[in-house]
Amino acid sequence: MTSEPHKPKASTSTPTAGTARAGDALPRHIFSHTPETLSAWCVQRGMPAFRGAQILEWVYQKGVIDPAAMTNLSAHDRQTLAREMDFLTGQIVQRQSASDGTEKLLIAWDQPGVGAEARQTTECVMIPSDDRRTACVSSQVGCPVGCKFCASGLGGLESNLSSGRIVEQVWRLREMLRDGQGAGGPVSRFARDFPRITNVVFMGMGEPLANFANVLGAVRTICALWGHGISARKVTISTVGLPAAIERLAEQCELPITLALSLHAPTDAIRRELIPWAQYSTIRQLLDACAKWFAKTGREITLEYTLLRGINDRPEHAEELAHLAKSLRANVNLIRYNENSGLPFGRPRDEDVHDFQRRLREASVNSHIRASRGRDIAAACGQLRHEARGGGGGGGLGGGGAELTIKGKAQG
Ligand code: SF4
Repeated sequence: MTSEPHKPKASTSTPTAGTARAGDALPRHIFSHTPETLSAWCVQRGMPAFRGAQILEWVYQKGVIDPAAMTNLSAHDRQTLAREMDFLTGQIVQRQSASDGTEKLLIAWDQPGVGAEARQTTECVMIPSDDRRTACVSSQVGCPVGCKFCASGLGGLESNLSSGRIVEQVWRLREMLRDGQGAGGPVSRFARDFPRITNVVFMGMGEPLANFANVLGAVRTICALWGHGISARKVTISTVGLPAAIERLAEQCELPITLALSLHAPTDAIRRELIPWAQYSTIRQLLDACAKWFAKTGREITLEYTLLRGINDRPEHAEELAHLAKSLRANVNLIRYNENSGLPFGRPRDEDVHDFQRRLREASVNSHIRASRGRDIAAACGQLRHEARGGGGGGGLGGGGAELTIKGKAQG
């Protein structure tokens, strides 16, 4: 648990995919490229410009990352690609499969000069339901926010993930479905029968808006027809809240993605107890930024609210939350905290959860209780990584501090 929060910054990242211009230093990682940058990369190496589009088609449409198998490239170009381009930059070091078909991967990212045991790791998850396959991805290694109920923030921020490494997580989860195999054996029939990713949620490790440029670049690749081709309406960024970054996202993101605000408390006093970064902005400032998002994009906000027993699940908290949600015309997703050893928070009682929702609904606030998924694996965000490092449990998914679940808005 971090005691002193890092001061939030709207962006601490270096632009790569989606923002790099031809002529800038061009990325070495295939998943950080756009058609423009990859064409420029090819031309710099004496290939025709159209090679870029061909290579991207192999990677995204056909799932091929071995240059030797890219049969419409010349032998010379295949060799150049194999020598000078990085394809997968991480290794799956652990995989967990839940009985409901949820699959979780722990990925260790390559770092020059760093031994395998000391490499940085992040998690990503594929969550299947009847008609959806949701990829939950991480945006940072560790997290600078340090929410008191979340394992991801326990060690603070280690680094930002590049846009390519964010996109690579989606590619890996998709290919796991296509192959029917993961690092630890076959995926469930339930998952395999529908082998494509339909939704992407930035609810894994990290605060997405603190890695702004890389997350925005990744979103563009995830939604691009030449990339993963996933509908922007099925991509959700979940943030604990940086007012300036929310406004910046409304200005700069041309895609109709969904924004979710991890509120978790109805008052500033409780929020500051739970979320160290809450000392930098009030709930009112966050809601004002969300109102600007709605005015600019026309997209409704979802408020995420993790219920912690005795902390924020009392009737008066429901009344206060209803008041906030109505001022914004926002939906509320209620998340039951997943109790784990090592962190001093309890799972709310079922009757309190339902009473909380009833009070919201009586106040005409649209609210949902998230279905729990993957409970028989270390499903909460940061938990698998934490356990792999020898720590105890605890943690949350996507700014939620809760068990592995997906948001209603993200599913629709
Ligand atoms: S809940 Fe989200 S924002 Fe908070 S520490 Fe965990 S990953 Fe970071």
